[in-house]
Amino acid sequence: MSEWLEALTVNYVNELTPYESARRLFAGSGADAKQVWMNANESPFHRDYEIDTAIFNRYPDCQPDTVVNAYADYAGLKPEQTLVTRGADEGIELVIRAFCEPGQDSILICPPTYGMYAISAQTFNVGVERAPLLADFSVDIDAVLSYVGKVKVVFICSPNNPTGTSVPQEDIVKVLAAYKDKAIIVLDEAYIEFDSEQTQSQLLAQYPNLVLLRTLSKAFALAGLRCGFTLASPDIIQTLLKVIAPYPIPAPVAQIAGQALQSRNLSAVAKDVEFLKTELSQLQAALSKVGDIQIVGDIKANFVLFRTQKKNELMKHLVDNKVLIRDQSKQIALENCLRISIGDKAQNQTLLALITAFFANEAK
Ligand SMILES: *Cc1c(COP(=O)(O)O)cnc(C)c1O
Repeated sequence: MSEWLEALTVNYVNELTPYESARRLFAGSGADAKQVWMNANESPFHRDYEIDTAIFNRYPDCQPDTVVNAYADYAGLKPEQTLVTRGADEGIELVIRAFCEPGQDSILICPPTYGMYAISAQTFNVGVERAPLLADFSVDIDAVLSYVGKVKVVFICSPNNPTGTSVPQEDIVKVLAAYKDKAIIVLDEAYIEFDSEQTQSQLLAQYPNLVLLRTLSKAFALAGLRCGFTLASPDIIQTLLKVIAPYPIPAPVAQIAGQALQSRNLSAVAKDVEFLKTELSQLQAALSKVGDIQIVGDIKANFVLFRTQKKNELMKHLVDNKVLIRDQSKQIALENCLRISIGDKAQNQTLLALITAFFANEAK
């Protein structure tokens, strides 16, 4: 970095490093058709969509009605409670920008959890406080409540990435009540389709400080689309509309999202989810029988987390065989942990065969 540029750059930005997405970690390894991607909690499935280019000379709606209405229907809420964003990641950013004073306010996170909460805060010079999960990965309610008055936004992820655990409603209600009028409680439901009875959307009626995050990137198999949703009171949605870009949803994205939310596709998604859940519990059962593997956390989402003392050797063996999973060992309480995103039947079988062969060979 040249000196003049560093001097010109905002101080806290100089200290940041570009986000290492699951994809970027393997960018140098030469993507090819034989690679099996089981590292980013994406869906192994894809569908066809239609694009109408006739309107591409026009700016799109800021909040395309068809998408907002369809998602509100799907979530059982009103359109005024629904904001469509560039992925759930943009929802995280909008909440931080709308509710945290840079250089002054802080957010609270409960690690190990999704990395973007802290990263987003850091890019706006907003502080990050931490209330780590308890040993069983449940939320440490006492620790979270000890920050009342000290943080403006609390992020809770359920099902949580990467532990796969869901947070019971009573815990969420305790947090919402303790932070009433004091902070926004963001409940990240990116994986809610995999544990659908656990959605807390019905709490929006009672708790005006609740914000839910949703996405089309996981169960809907549209990570490449970059489309997510923020669900909250009409007042909060109006506040977020003050900070969102004027045209956040490109026209082709709106068209595809509208098709993805039609009832025919919703039933296809529900079928995918049932299939993936069955595959995941079978994979978890098979992995738990491998001597050097301990299952960690739960499987309420579309991935399984496990610990092995042979973490580095196993990762290398998988990469050498073109199967990519994700190292989670840098997170608090997750030393030697790896995360597998469930794939299609063939991918899961390939992966399991490689892991079994690796440990059989180690035992010799
Ligand atoms: C994948 C993920 C997101 C991001 O979703 P996008 O809509 O792709 O931005 C948000 N939260 C959690 C917990 C995730 O795992």
